[in-house]
Amino acid sequence: MKLVISNLILSLDGPQEALKQQAAKKLGIKHQNITNFKIVKQSIDARKKPGIRLVYSISCEVDDCFQIPGDRDIKILADSREEILLPGSKPVEGRPLVIGTGPAGLFCGLVLAQNGYRPIIIERGQKVEERAGTVERCWNAGILDTETNVQFGEGGAGTFSDGKLTTRINDRRCEKVLEEFHRFGAPEEITYKAKPHIGTDNLKKIVANMRKEIERLGGTVLFNTKAVDVKLRDGQICGVVTSTNSTIETNAVVLAIGHSARDTFRMLYDRGVPFEQKPFSIGVRIEHPQELINTAQYGAASGHPALGAADYQLFMKGAGRTAYSFCMCPGGIVVASASEPGSIVTNGMSEYSRDRENANSALVVSVGPADFGTGHPLGGIEFQRRWERLAYAAGGSNNSAPVQRLEDFLNNRTGRLGSVKPSYTGETRCADINECLPPYVTDCMKQSINYFDRKLRGFGMKDALLTGVETRTSSPVRIPRNDAFECMGIAGLYPCGEGAGYAGGIVSAAVDGIRIAEQIVRTYALKKSIT
Ligand code: FAD
Repeated sequence: MKLVISNLILSLDGPQEALKQQAAKKLGIKHQNITNFKIVKQSIDARKKPGIRLVYSISCEVDDCFQIPGDRDIKILADSREEILLPGSKPVEGRPLVIGTGPAGLFCGLVLAQNGYRPIIIERGQKVEERAGTVERCWNAGILDTETNVQFGEGGAGTFSDGKLTTRINDRRCEKVLEEFHRFGAPEEITYKAKPHIGTDNLKKIVANMRKEIERLGGTVLFNTKAVDVKLRDGQICGVVTSTNSTIETNAVVLAIGHSARDTFRMLYDRGVPFEQKPFSIGVRIEHPQELINTAQYGAASGHPALGAADYQLFMKGAGRTAYSFCMCPGGIVVASASEPGSIVTNGMSEYSRDRENANSALVVSVGPADFGTGHPLGGIEFQRRWERLAYAAGGSNNSAPVQRLEDFLNNRTGRLGSVKPSYTGETRCADINECLPPYVTDCMKQSINYFDRKLRGFGMKDALLTGVETRTSSPVRIPRNDAFECMGIAGLYPCGEGAGYAGGIVSAAVDGIRIAEQIVRTYALKKSIT
């Protein structure tokens, strides 16, 4: 019989071996009678300082005839045999094509390959080994490559990230995502930590390993190959034209292009693919000394190796809008993330060690169609562009990002840098960020600061540093799909992942990729030899 036992507690220095004894005590048996013992969850309980504890859930097996004591922390684990995925009968013309190698495209391609459907995957940017150099050059010299950058290239938008793997979705596929990441090189802890992260250093290796596995299973991955047109016939997709001047003929296409492929959105819109406006959030990156965040969260235990760099999550509902922290990167840096020239876009990234001086997080406010000033389905993109260009201008129109001390931002003045130095990957210039965002956003941000300071002591420090602007928090569009996950009105075209409006973050994008791959397997016949 398989059990899960929750609420096993260790002090920060407590040895994990003690967990088995605790589990045995709860069960009222000897620890030798417990087999297949595994940690399935570890979280930090920092509510009482001092006295921060680690809280675990474990899974284990005991004899089938064992009488389970009445204890809410003990649960019998349901038999979780995976659903068997059987191939459908619709013939695949050509090979299934996946556009994009972000988490959605990679996981979709992986599952297709694992099921014998040898996908072709095309990616507009470079493979990750080359991409890293191109991105570094952009950060150092300020010269943007519009095809390979922080948004585009192998691994997608999350490659230069903190690799946080937290998600709010509850889907059985999340487990597969974490297990596959672990199989391809992530530390085992990601399979049980409540707030797992991989770090950009590990992500780069994992992404390359996943690609090699897809190729080993018969898939083909083509880099520097952008989808520039789609061929449609009688409401069915029948091919994709690429930037390398070839047409890939197929009746199954996965559109996993992320939220920043504005040129591809435009092309699809012009071809009649339906789009809807979608809310998202905009604001700034805010930086504090990591030590300040550690102390606020962990008090005297701050710096203990079992705790690592502390994170935070803040949320304030105002009049009609919410302000919140987003994509917080402990011990990380602020990265230049634009994909179009003449614009500044911020985001955050960390190495696995999370050991840099500053903590950074987006501080954003919700915006929606009513703010876009147009009913055009792609209106949200123009709205993003407006603030990205103003940030470029505020930075001096030379690729420098506008930065501002929090106190100066609150007082609408440019000022100078204080004790928190920008970790931004490019040049910065002191400016008034109030000029790069709509007043309803800056007002809401200002209202939130006091409130957040009460929740996290020090958040409102005068020298905290803002870098503008953060606009790519999620997709500004949604491509509606039907019950078979196809684009409304276009058979065989599968909008997938964050860009299409079905995910927000690495794990949920990967889950959506798996979901679409499963649908393709269920729909299309497996060819004996796809060439
Ligand atoms: P993407 O990852 O955007 O992938 C889309 C891919 O499609 C890209 O590789 C692109 O080059 C390619 N493409 C686009 N158009 C074409 C075309 N026409 N032809 C061929 N290829 C095309 N999320 C988290 O959960 N945790 C984090 O810590 C985190 N940190 C982040 C840090 C940064 C700097 C950024 C930018 C994002 C971060 N995110 C994070 C968000 C996360 O990266 C995205 O949610 C996720 O990558 C979305 O996955 P996706 O596959 O849907 O799209």
